[in-house]
Amino acid sequence: MTRKVRVRFAPSPTGALHIGGVRTALYNYLFAKQHSGEFIFRIEDTDSNRFVPGAEEYIIESFKWLGITFDEGVSFGGNYGPYRQSERKDIYKTYVDELLAKGLAYMAFDTPEELETKRTEIANFQYDASTRLAMNNSLTLSEDEVAQRLANGEKYVVRVKIEPGEEILVNDIIRGEVRINSSILDDKVLYKSADGLPTYHLANIVDDHLMEITHVIRGEEWLPSAPLHVLLYRYFGWTDTMPQFAHLPLLLKPDGNGKLSKRDGDRLGFPVFPLEWHDPKTGEVSSGYRESGYFPEAVLNFLALLGWNPGNDQEIMTMDEMVQLFHLEKCSKSGAKFDYEKGKWFNHQYLQLKDNMELAKQFRPTIQAKGFDMDEVQLAQIVGAVKSRVTFANELWDQTSFYFVAPTQYDEKAVQKRWKPETKNELGALVNYLKTITDADFASVELSEKLVIGWIETSGYNMGNVMNPFRLSLVGEMKGPHIFDITAVLGKEETIRRIQTAIEKLG
Ligand code: GLU
Repeated sequence: MTRKVRVRFAPSPTGALHIGGVRTALYNYLFAKQHSGEFIFRIEDTDSNRFVPGAEEYIIESFKWLGITFDEGVSFGGNYGPYRQSERKDIYKTYVDELLAKGLAYMAFDTPEELETKRTEIANFQYDASTRLAMNNSLTLSEDEVAQRLANGEKYVVRVKIEPGEEILVNDIIRGEVRINSSILDDKVLYKSADGLPTYHLANIVDDHLMEITHVIRGEEWLPSAPLHVLLYRYFGWTDTMPQFAHLPLLLKPDGNGKLSKRDGDRLGFPVFPLEWHDPKTGEVSSGYRESGYFPEAVLNFLALLGWNPGNDQEIMTMDEMVQLFHLEKCSKSGAKFDYEKGKWFNHQYLQLKDNMELAKQFRPTIQAKGFDMDEVQLAQIVGAVKSRVTFANELWDQTSFYFVAPTQYDEKAVQKRWKPETKNELGALVNYLKTITDADFASVELSEKLVIGWIETSGYNMGNVMNPFRLSLVGEMKGPHIFDITAVLGKEETIRRIQTAIEKLG
């Protein structure tokens, strides 16, 4: 019987969610949706030393902003809960006891100092079959002594007992068959009596088993843990329902070699977190994609293509298209360079696809905050006129401010180049001509353009000689959209006023 696809995203709340984690979650989401499966949100918070307050809330808010939804999990509910590992202590304990009872794990009483001494005595010390019999554990101490230590409340850890010389096969959807020998593994700690909590390895596989996870899709940094996980499935007798693994390639620095880090973002000026993050320990504030003005769809589309592609050159994809096209098998084994400029390109593309009216609605409060206003229909018109020049919606003000504020000075270089001795007379004539155009014709981009261009031609003026200073008068510099897009919004009176001001100031 094929099992219903169930995948999970299982972050540890140790800080902000890294952009690589967002990609991992996205791939899980696409895979779940594609297979009409379920997507589970689990919090792996068994390492209390690394717990950071606010991190869990931050991760939840990030996915809300991104539009990635979960079927079950922390803050979503479901039948396999609790989904926060710190609330599953008792569950793990029974599995720890099971391994102890089967002799597949043992209790170790070595103090940190004793372990440190061993490390200095033995080069590359590893707690494993070659050393465990020289340590203080339930394999070397008598039953009485173990009982005595427990009665005294001595702290211990439970270590997995790994037999050397066994082949462990990790069958990875992306990487193929990865074989390693158990001799290189150490007897990892699975449980600490000090806090009664399991370590990542035990909690992770127990939960994947109990939550009936079918596919473990996670970052490459977890590949080294996979052999131990496979072994633990064997120890528990769960091999038949062991999830299939897929370890995703790393996100690499935009330049040079190595893994993408927060420092790369700081150095090159881009966010590595979905939302702005306020580190509660250091007080440091890190930028986020949301606050930098990204559209969540653009971020997801960009991330989807870092490590996977649909096999053609299609780049812009809706979520539905990605769900259709995504293939774990087609994910690349090698790392994906984090091309930040490409991220901006995606945002630019998504901005072009946005409805002008919708952008206008979002933009209007910015204008109002500056003491201006404009009805949304007209605002949509100016947004439409400038948006091809804009990557982020928060650049709209820079591109449109001249609609609201008449220039008080003029770009010097442009004046030198464009304002000629004859300009005064020619613009004066233009003003006279504009006065003859009806307000209705003036408000039409096409009509006003036709009329003015026709007038310049019949007057025998050079087109550029009139149009360039005309623009300079309206905008103050040589930028901006099509000139008749501007005049249609400014209206006849304001257009004429700006030309007259320029003539007065520039002579
Ligand atoms: N808690 C791990 C993390 O923080 C989960 C790794 C896994 O998906 O197995 O990414």
